[in-house]
Amino acid sequence: MPSDVLGYAAAVAKEPLKPYQFTRRDVGPGDVSIKIAFCGVCHSDLHTARDEWGGAIFPVVPGHEIVGHVTAVGDKVTKYKVGDTVGVGCLVDSCLQCEDCKNHNEQFCNGQVLTYTSPCKDGTGKSTQGGYSDHIVVREEFVLRVPDGLDLAGAAPLLCAGITTYSPLRHWGVKKGTKVGVVGIGGLGHMAVKLAAAMGAEVTVFTTSQSKVEDAKRLGAHHVVISKDEAQMAAAAATLDVTIDTVGFTHDLTPYINALRTNGTHVLVGAPENPHPPFIPFSLIGKRRSIGGSCIGGIQETQEMLDFCAEHKLTSDIEVIAIDYINEAYERMLKSDVKYRFVIDLSTLKK
Ligand code: NAP
Ligand code: ZN
Repeated sequence: MPSDVLGYAAAVAKEPLKPYQFTRRDVGPGDVSIKIAFCGVCHSDLHTARDEWGGAIFPVVPGHEIVGHVTAVGDKVTKYKVGDTVGVGCLVDSCLQCEDCKNHNEQFCNGQVLTYTSPCKDGTGKSTQGGYSDHIVVREEFVLRVPDGLDLAGAAPLLCAGITTYSPLRHWGVKKGTKVGVVGIGGLGHMAVKLAAAMGAEVTVFTTSQSKVEDAKRLGAHHVVISKDEAQMAAAAATLDVTIDTVGFTHDLTPYINALRTNGTHVLVGAPENPHPPFIPFSLIGKRRSIGGSCIGGIQETQEMLDFCAEHKLTSDIEVIAIDYINEAYERMLKSDVKYRFVIDLSTLKK
């Protein structure tokens, strides 16, 4: 029997989120049912609820930074049992057959199913619905183990903000002494600073917010540049090996390209609605610099990131909110007014 779920959904693009009743599939043989304790609020939730990327399926229940406890498992499930503390990130299924899946890069699989606003594979014609809800049913392969000792609410943002910054730091070989830049200190950016610092990197933060300078240092940054200040930007020229750009708004890349040393890479993870302005090819050619991009991370790497965070005692800096505060939270997120991630306490979701 499909189960009844209560959540918060955007009924159509740009409408405020409201309580929404829907159903989830029965717990199949390979499925895990999870009572959601906390769900982080990612800027991607807002992009989707406002259909800024196009293609969102409404009504949509956002939320892909999910942590909670297992309440039921199918009879083929081997990794989890009732009571386990688990997480779910941006992916709930993929083909598990293609080259990307075999290489543990399910995030690049053409058959991937996102946690929300993807067509369900069960033939019902429904779309997936995310973690602003009381429970979720997910196949075992896409469930993560939340290590003991991590604060549960603070761990929720690791499922997207954590892996989205951990994966490019690892891919571009960040280690002790690497000079890492982080652009934008929001949900993703503040995790990039913590993770890069824990990997031993020398971290430079680029922020538009004077009010975040001291915080950036507390988070682990060694240098802070106010990105609106041309003199400070010029002084940062040719200093960095790899930069993680988390800004979800259109912006000029040229000053950041110029901040790279020879062979440096500027990695885009922020995903604005509109293109960035063009840049001069010679800014790359002159020092064999690259521009890259990175999308969340695979399931195996997400588990590795959670274990890394447990080992280094890293969680997100959060503001816990009740679910009826979500629309206000979106407005504050648009003003960069969150330190550094809103996390919904799902016990505030009233029947
Ligand atoms: P967020 O919490 O809103 O943080 C974004 C930060 O960007 C802000 O805190 C602010 O930092 C800076 N910023 C905001 N407006 C700006 C502007 N107009 N110009 C320059 N900087 C500005 O967002 P988030 O949740 O970290 O997500 C960031 C982006 O990454 C979004 O586009 C999201 O969709 C995307 N994302 C991508 C992936 C992926 O797999 N690639 C995964 C998750 C999210 P300062 O105050 O320090 O300037
Ligand atoms: Zn996200």
